[in-house]
Amino acid sequence: MMQQFSGSVEVVCGPMFSGKTEELIRRVKRAQIAKQRVQIFKPSLDNRYAEEEVVSHSAQAIRAESVDGSVDILIRLKDSTRVVAIDEIQFFDENIITVVTKLAARGCRVICAGLDLDYRAQPFGPMPQLLAIADEVTKIHAVCTVCGAPAVRSQRLSKSKEHILLGEKDAYEARCRGHYQLDESEEQALLPLEVEKRLANEQLSH
Ligand code: ADP
Ligand code: MG
Repeated sequence: MMQQFSGSVEVVCGPMFSGKTEELIRRVKRAQIAKQRVQIFKPSLDNRYAEEEVVSHSAQAIRAESVDGSVDILIRLKDSTRVVAIDEIQFFDENIITVVTKLAARGCRVICAGLDLDYRAQPFGPMPQLLAIADEVTKIHAVCTVCGAPAVRSQRLSKSKEHILLGEKDAYEARCRGHYQLDESEEQALLPLEVEKRLANEQLSH
């Protein structure tokens, strides 16, 4: 069956404080100006500021529905909805990929915002798959709190090893690659180039 509207998947990603939520709100408001029906979702896990709102670090806010899991988005979808916006999408389970694909197949424009990397600078949850299936990807930067350069990583300030540690300005800072530091125990020492080459050659010969 051909759809009346063609769906799409947009992803806005970057570190904390990069303006992902602001950008999601900006896109949602423009869709609303165009009189399109919008539904906004966020994982219920993230109730840092408000239960039923998506709020940016610059205090912009928009009403949102909190959902426990990705299937709840399909359960709550209204027939008239043309645009679905999902914030903090990195917190959803892998099934979010199927849900987003189904929404786009139904003709919805799906706007997703989430962290590309976790605090250890590793890809966050379903983000690699989501970025691969997206029609459009926007990577945005914050400002490095040390030097002011474009920040691409989220520096955790506490020593906690929890994968998810919700927090505000006191828990994380935006950092550029150079000023981002892992815990000493996890730090990979930068080897002299000669040593790096010898290791690479050893790998080849195996
Ligand atoms: P995200 O959703 O990516 O965490 P938000 O949209 O909530 O980001 O917030 C972006 C806003 O955060 C910026 O417009 C700015 O006002 C504020 N901000 C605070 N610290 C920084 C920083 N280090 N770099 C950039 N913006 C920052
Ligand atoms: Mg945000």
